[in-house]
Amino acid sequence: MLKFALAGNPNCGKTTLFNSLTGSTAHVGNWPGVTVDKREGVYKKAASPVAIVDLPGIYSLSPYTPEEVISRNFILDEKPDCVINIVDATNLERNLYLTTQIMEIDVPIVVALNMIDVVKKSGDKIDAKTLEQKIGVPVVEISALKDEGIKELMDRAYEAAQKKRAGTTVLESSALAHVISDVRIALKGKGVENPLFHAIKLTEGDELEVKAHPDEMQMVEEFKKQFADDVFEGDFEAMVADARYKYISANFSTAFVRAKKSEKLTKSDKADRVLTHRIWGIPIFLVILFAIFHFTFGEDLLYLNAIFGFATDVDTGNEVLNAFVAVFYSSAGVSTPGAILFNLMGFICDQIGGGIATGLENVGAAEWAQGLVNDGIWGGLSGVLSFIPQILFLFLLISILEDSGYMARVAFILDRAFRKFGLSGRAFIPMIMGFGCSVPAAINTRTLADEKERIMTNRVIPFFTCGAKAPILAAVCGAIVHIWNPGIDQGLIVFLLYVFGMAMAVITVALMRQTTMRGEVPPFIMELPAYHAPQFRNLMVHLWDKLKHYIKKAFTIIVASAIVIWFLSHMSWEWHYLPDERMNESILHDIGAFVSWICTPMGFGYNTAVMRETGWVFVVAAVTGLIAKENVISTFFVLGNCLGGALNEETMEGWEAVSFLVTETGITWQGLIAFTVFNMLTIPCFAAAATVKGETPKGKFKFTVAFWMITSYLTATAVFVVLSWWWTVFILAAVIALVVAYFILRNKGKINLKFRKRSNAAKE
Ligand code: GDP
Ligand code: MG
Repeated sequence: MLKFALAGNPNCGKTTLFNSLTGSTAHVGNWPGVTVDKREGVYKKAASPVAIVDLPGIYSLSPYTPEEVISRNFILDEKPDCVINIVDATNLERNLYLTTQIMEIDVPIVVALNMIDVVKKSGDKIDAKTLEQKIGVPVVEISALKDEGIKELMDRAYEAAQKKRAGTTVLESSALAHVISDVRIALKGKGVENPLFHAIKLTEGDELEVKAHPDEMQMVEEFKKQFADDVFEGDFEAMVADARYKYISANFSTAFVRAKKSEKLTKSDKADRVLTHRIWGIPIFLVILFAIFHFTFGEDLLYLNAIFGFATDVDTGNEVLNAFVAVFYSSAGVSTPGAILFNLMGFICDQIGGGIATGLENVGAAEWAQGLVNDGIWGGLSGVLSFIPQILFLFLLISILEDSGYMARVAFILDRAFRKFGLSGRAFIPMIMGFGCSVPAAINTRTLADEKERIMTNRVIPFFTCGAKAPILAAVCGAIVHIWNPGIDQGLIVFLLYVFGMAMAVITVALMRQTTMRGEVPPFIMELPAYHAPQFRNLMVHLWDKLKHYIKKAFTIIVASAIVIWFLSHMSWEWHYLPDERMNESILHDIGAFVSWICTPMGFGYNTAVMRETGWVFVVAAVTGLIAKENVISTFFVLGNCLGGALNEETMEGWEAVSFLVTETGITWQGLIAFTVFNMLTIPCFAAAATVKGETPKGKFKFTVAFWMITSYLTATAVFVVLSWWWTVFILAAVIALVVAYFILRNKGKINLKFRKRSNAAKE
C-alpha cells in the first residue's frame, strides 16, 4: 500500500484534511499543538488504497521539539511515497519556510495550499501555477474545511508518488552553497541517504547531525573561519534561516497578490482588543464560562423567573400533559436548554425503568432478581444515562469555544496573569483540554519541553473538571438547591465549583514552584489563530465521539461496577442474600463503615447519628469513582434505589438519588460540597492515572498519587470546616497567611530551615 504523510505547520489544517481523507474523527482544535503523535488512516478513493499519516505540526525540521523529531524521523526513516505539505495560504511566507526544508529530502512532494476559501474571501489572490513553476513541485489549492480540491490533490499526489524525486534546495545562491555542496558529495560518497538534507542540517550545526557525521563537521568548521567577520559571525544556523526567508520573499511571494486593504484592523484583531484585554480578559472568560454553566445546568432561563417571579406549578389535569409541560417549564421558571435535555432524558429513563420493573413483576421474578435488575443494573445505568444529553450539551458549548479560536486566547490571557506564579500558557492548553477528558489532556503534555512543568501539569489536569465528573456536580448541586433552597441556582454553584478546581490547579502549581519544582517558567510563544465560525461537522464529530465513549463505558465498566456494588450490598459475610431493609448487615456496609472514619473531617464519615447506619454510601461511591468517575453517580443510584426501595417503589433520576441519600444519611450540604471537592481533586479514574503515569518520568508517579490524596483530603476538610462554621475561615486565613509569609521570607533568604541547608550542602 502506498503511504502519504501530511506535514505542515501547527494549525494549518492537517487533521481536518486527514479526517476528510480517511473518514476519521481525530480531534481538530483551533489552536496549535493538538496533534502530538502521528496518526494513521486509509484513503480509499484512489486507484489503490493509500495509507495516510497525520504528523504533528512543526515549523521546522530541526530536532528541538518532540513534534519535530517525530515528523522528521517519519519522513526520513519510513520514506513515505509522497509528502503532502499542507500550507496555510493565509500565512504563505511563514509556511513555505518548512516547505523549503522538506524539499531538500529525496521524497515526492505535493504542496496543498489550504484555507484557500479564506484567501478568496479576503480578496487576496494566489497564483498556484506560478508558485508551482517556482517551487518545482505540484501545488494544489484546497479547502480542507469545505472539502474543495481534495480529489485533485490526491490525484496529483498519486501521480507524484509513481516517480522518484531528488531533493532540491533554495540555498543554491547563498554564500553557503559551496560548503553544502562539498559536504553533500562527501556524505553521498559514504552512501548516506538524503545527502542534501543531511548536508544542510550539518551546516546548520544540528546536534543530531554533528554527532552522526563528525568528519564532515570538520569541513564545516574549517569553512566557518572565513565567515568570522561576517554579520552573522559564523552562525550558520542563522545564515541558513536568513537565506531561506530571503529566497521565499524574493521568489515565492510574487505568487501572492494582496488585495488593497484599508488600514483597518481585521475583525479578529478587533475582537482580540476586547477578549484579550489586559484587565478584562479574565473577567470576560469567567462570564463566558458562567453563561455556559447557566445554559447547561440552570433551571431558570436567564433568571427571568428570579426577576419577574411568574413561575408556578402547572396542573393541566392530564398526567401526560403535565409531564410534558414539566420538561420545559417548572416552578423554577422556564427551563434552560441543558435542563430541557435533562428532563427529557429523565422522562425517557423513567419510562424504560417502569417498563422493566413491571415486566419483571409480571413474569414473577424472584425478589433478589428484581432488585438486581431494577436497582443494580438499571439503577446504575440510568443514573449515568440520564446525564448524558446534558453533559453533551456542555461539551458542545466548550467545543464551540475551542473551535472558534477563543480557547487559544484563554491560554494566552492565563499565561499573562499567572506566569509570575510559575505557570505558562503552553501548560494551560492541556489543562483546558482536561475539561473534556484527562486522558488526551495528559497525552498532550508530551510536548512540554520542561520536565518539571510536564510533571506539574499532569498533576493538576484532573482539577479541570472532566465530563465524567460533571454529573457528580450536577447531581449534588441539584439536590442542594432543591432541599435547602439557598437562593442561588445550580448553574451558579456548578460554575463556582469548576472555578474552584481551576483555582486549585493554579494554587498548587504556584506552591510546587516554591518548593519541589523550582525553576524558570519556559517562554510561551503561540500564534493566535484567526477566529472563525465553528464548523458544524466538526462539532458533531466531537459530540459523536464523546457519546460513543460514554455509551461504551456505561455498558461495560459502569454496569459491571453497579452489579458488584449491588451484590456486595445484598450479601452477608455468610453469603446469604439480604433484602434492601437489611443492607446494614452487608459486606459493603462493613467495609464502607470501616473506612468511614477517615472521611469524618470532610463531612461524609461518621458525622451524624444517622450516618453511622448509612453514611458509608459516600465512602463507597468515592472509592468506586477511582475506577471511573461516572461510578460515583451510578453508586449513588444503586444504593439510593435500594435504600429507597424499602420506602417507595419508583426509581429515581438525576439529583433525586442524592436528595434521597441526604434524608437517609443526614449528610449536610457542607458535607456534600466537600464530597464533591474531594472527588474533583483526588486520584482521577484508572485510565487517567495510568496515562499520567506514562507521561511523567519514572519514579515520580508515587509522589503524584500522594499529591492527589493529600490535596483532596486537606482541601475537602478545609471546605467542610469553613462552610460549616464560617468563623473558622479566620483560622484558615491565618494558616494560609503564615505559609505565604514563610515562603516570602524564605525566598528573600531571611529564613533558612534545616532541610534547605542540607540540600545546599548536598549541592556543594
Ligand atoms: P492542524 O493543527 O494542522 O491539525 O489543524 P486542524 O486540522 O486542527 O485545523 C485547525 C483549524 O483550522 C480548525 O479550526 C479548522 O476548522 C480550521 N481549518 C482547517 N482547514 C481549513 C480550511 O480549508 N478553511 C478554513 N476556513 N478553515 C480551516
Ligand atoms: Mg492536528
